[in-house]
Amino acid sequence: MTNILFAASQSAWTKYETHLTTALDATGLDYTLATDLPADQVDYIIYAPNATVQDFTPYTRLKAVMNLWAGVEQVVNNPTLTAPLTRMVDAEGLTQGMVEWVTGHVLRHHLGMDAHIVNPDQTWDDTPPPVAKDRPVTILGLGVLGQACASQLSRIGFSVTGWSRSQKDIPGITCLSGPEGLRHALLGAQIVVLLLPDTPATENTLDADALAALPDGAVIVNPGRGTLIDDDALLAALPRLGHATLDTFRTEPLPKDHPYWSHPKVTVTPHIASATRPDSAARVIADNIARAERGETLHHLVDRAAGY
Ligand code: NDP
Repeated sequence: MTNILFAASQSAWTKYETHLTTALDATGLDYTLATDLPADQVDYIIYAPNATVQDFTPYTRLKAVMNLWAGVEQVVNNPTLTAPLTRMVDAEGLTQGMVEWVTGHVLRHHLGMDAHIVNPDQTWDDTPPPVAKDRPVTILGLGVLGQACASQLSRIGFSVTGWSRSQKDIPGITCLSGPEGLRHALLGAQIVVLLLPDTPATENTLDADALAALPDGAVIVNPGRGTLIDDDALLAALPRLGHATLDTFRTEPLPKDHPYWSHPKVTVTPHIASATRPDSAARVIADNIARAERGETLHHLVDRAAGY
């Protein structure tokens, strides 16, 4: 018998229970799935941020913790966790959702849609936007989500540059790495999309120096994490930048009195760029548990030292 603990909120359990049961049944495993199990009987923990489990010490036979989210910053540094940690990678749900959100927000700025949607003076400005090949877009982070977004934007025709920790080679994308690579990726970028994880090394990737490398009118789109941007530096740079569309923040929900809410050059979206979708995510988790039970290596393992 494989014992699986769902350690997240009651509302998450309501959304996931049926999907997980269906997906686990399909694997043919003999299992128990519950929100409460004796700690020393638990084989796998399905985990969400703000989960009911913070101390993993009593879980003496734990084989893995499966994080329901792509970002693992809330659990990756937990010293009581010694079992392997996996994160959510779901092409059908999470990745597809992010590609749609990023493409939509990039196209909003590329096409200058705001000028026509909100046009109280009825201005007839028939200046056409450039075609995509003349719009350099930089994506910081070329992981699962960054690569998917880069490929989609490149298919549309954008001139895409990507930056990551290790050097990549992706057809149609200019791939850069390292501090010099970051500078090159920002110089001349008219739209910058942040899809980096929250780690000590990525904090304030867009600091005052990095923001200064962007050309006037550049647009920032941040569905990554709030910690990637030095907020004071961004607020200071906004007068010469085009816009910032921000989905993630250091404090969420974004406090009511935060200057981003009322800034004319900021769009706030409430961490909805892409969500874990219970139906497809349940299949990812069930398949991974079945893999482990067959003695195969887990998919989507987190590198605890790198922090993502
Ligand atoms: P991955 O782990 O697949 O990719 C992370 C990318 O960031 C990799 O390319 C990695 O480089 C790069 N990276 C990490 N550290 C550094 C560094 N110090 N310098 C340069 N590059 C670095 O993650 P995902 O693509 O799946 O997800 C990215 C993030 O998106 C998540 O961590 C999460 O914060 C956010 N997210 C936000 C959502 C939302 O709704 N707003 C939804 C889902 C995710 P390398 O390839 O060399 O390892």
